[in-house]
Amino acid sequence: MRAPARLRRWKPRHALPALALVAALTAGLLWWQPWSGGDGDRLAFTTAPGGSARFGTGEHLYRYKVRVEDGIAESPAQFAAEVDAVLGDVRHGWAAGGTASFQRMPADPVDFTVYLATPKSTDRICGQYGLDTGGWVNCGVTHQVVVNLTRWTELSEFYQGRPEQYHALAVNHEVGHILGNGHVDCPGPGAPAPVMMQQIKGLHGCVPNGWPYSDTGTLLTGPPVQAPTNAP
Ligand SMILES: [Zn+2]
Repeated sequence: MRAPARLRRWKPRHALPALALVAALTAGLLWWQPWSGGDGDRLAFTTAPGGSARFGTGEHLYRYKVRVEDGIAESPAQFAAEVDAVLGDVRHGWAAGGTASFQRMPADPVDFTVYLATPKSTDRICGQYGLDTGGWVNCGVTHQVVVNLTRWTELSEFYQGRPEQYHALAVNHEVGHILGNGHVDCPGPGAPAPVMMQQIKGLHGCVPNGWPYSDTGTLLTGPPVQAPTNAP
């Protein structure tokens, strides 16, 4: 039986453009990778092997993995050990609040990923979420924590000579965003600077501090800041 003329004509005239459209959409999806952890999965990163114990007893378990950009001096295992030490401090870290616990995983599924990335890659990943890191700062958004390699090695103005304090601050601040915390300001002169303060922009009378909780288990915070939406 012959197909109606309308159908016979359709093939040669429309098949090619339709195929081209499908190919273009597929290529776009492959480039964007909406199902993956973001652009960081397309750049060259290596995931730290192994995992950690569960840190803390909080009911809400946040599983994370650690990825380090290829070709930099810091090894994935080395960076992961520092991240673990920060999230694993159940006395001063976020786990001290009693609601969140953390565990590093060697692979998906995870709730967030901590990247150590060159400034260029940091801007690229953070920029996908509308955050302007300017080759200068870290970001924490949705399921991504991105630590700028230059910050990690050169630290910030108020933490010169204190890499452990700055590393704690960087991880605690960005993971704080993952937990849903916004920016706060210094509560008063001489007080420990809250980790959710944008400390890199000035301490406003506070003293350097990289931990969310004090020795006595008090949350170190301050008045909320109305930040522009693209502030990392
Ligand atoms: Zn922030």
